[in-house]
Amino acid sequence: MKASELAVLKELLATPKKIVIVPHKNPDGDAMGSTLALYQYLVKTGHKAHVVSPNDYPKFLKWLPYEDTVVKFDLQNKKAVRLINEADLIFTLDFNALSRVAEMEPALQNASAQFVMIDHHQQPDDYAVVTYSDTSVCATCQMVYHTFEMLEVTDLIDADMATCLYTGIMTDTGSFRFRSTTATTHQVIAALIAKGADNALIHEKIYDANNFSRMQLLGTALTNLHRLEEYRAAYITLSQEELDAHDFQKGDTEGFVNYGLSLENTVLALIFIENKQEGIIKISLRSKGDFSVNLMAREHFEGGGHTNAAGGKSDRSLEDTVAYFISILPQYKEALNE
Ligand code: 5GP
Repeated sequence: MKASELAVLKELLATPKKIVIVPHKNPDGDAMGSTLALYQYLVKTGHKAHVVSPNDYPKFLKWLPYEDTVVKFDLQNKKAVRLINEADLIFTLDFNALSRVAEMEPALQNASAQFVMIDHHQQPDDYAVVTYSDTSVCATCQMVYHTFEMLEVTDLIDADMATCLYTGIMTDTGSFRFRSTTATTHQVIAALIAKGADNALIHEKIYDANNFSRMQLLGTALTNLHRLEEYRAAYITLSQEELDAHDFQKGDTEGFVNYGLSLENTVLALIFIENKQEGIIKISLRSKGDFSVNLMAREHFEGGGHTNAAGGKSDRSLEDTVAYFISILPQYKEALNE
């Protein structure tokens, strides 16, 4: 964060404020961990704070400290709109454009509050008075920790806050394996464990919470795994029918895309998931090395993200979306074989 922006943030937080903290739609571990840690800090320091999420999040996050205080915009619309309208300050965490909150965007656009963005995605929009954006940091949770360092308030981090921050760093780094995981990340993690984050328990709560139908759905996904060897690519499809047959719940397909990338000699993996209710195919893209799925998602699938992890969507049918993906691969052949 620039010194001038830090000064603005300090000034904004110098007196008690009404504050709303917003994660992106379909929040993941990093979005929920970062918003809930910031929430606890703000409440501790005398602000009236609420996390307002565009929609619900997966069951494997429903143990995070204070998650039961989260207001869901789609389910508790009146309350959410009132909090947004009354807010002096709105923090947007783990996203880079207001469109990432989908149906909640008009409410944020109409808000009279000032905005603070803390985010690690590429090409942030310019809507905040403080924009703390760093694409080199693995997780927004690590950036929230750095924010606490800059505000000189790390002594306020207790076990609950540490648990939230640990969770987001763990989930956004694939358990500390992605290239974005640095020595600094491990130093932050060490500090969080020292403050009471129970690493073994957090791993268990996130990764050992599978129900039987999710494992069966994974079986179907692996059966649908295709390899495109000349492009060092792999993809998985899941139709609405297949999801329904396995009692699909939000979050059940989290991580499936990585199985494609775990095939030897594969540098690009996608998963195409049909969503009949929204009339779209939701796409997750992952890559290894320098191949940018952020660019592929931006150019072809109305999305974006990071170099090695991005998301997007398509209005075509599942079959046509896959056919379109295969049709664009020749233009990437050289880059995929570098
Ligand atoms: P996932 O595949 O896990 O949903 O998302 C991977 C990364 O891409 C995350 O950082 C996520 O924020 C970003 N992402 C996912 N979907 C979209 C999208 O539709 N638009 C943009 N801009 N980013 C996305």
